[in-house]
Amino acid sequence: MYIGVFIFLTKITNLLNLKNQEIQCPYCGEYITIFIDCSIENQSYIEDCQVCCRPINLIISVGFDGDVQVNAMHENE
Ligand SMILES: [Zn+2]
Repeated sequence: MYIGVFIFLTKITNLLNLKNQEIQCPYCGEYITIFIDCSIENQSYIEDCQVCCRPINLIISVGFDGDVQVNAMHENE
């Protein structure tokens, strides 16, 4: 049952070219998982930390080989 759901979710994320990536919150230091749309080469947005709810400034670049680089910074940095 659970394995079936997992495969289903994996298929959806592959279809949408989404990649999940673990980042460290610059405020509380906890690791949270974000989903990155790999079809966009360079993107930056604010995502609230799932633990402390403070806004994390995410700067993401996707390489031509699908390599994802994520910078997680304070909002005002
Ligand atoms: Zn946090």
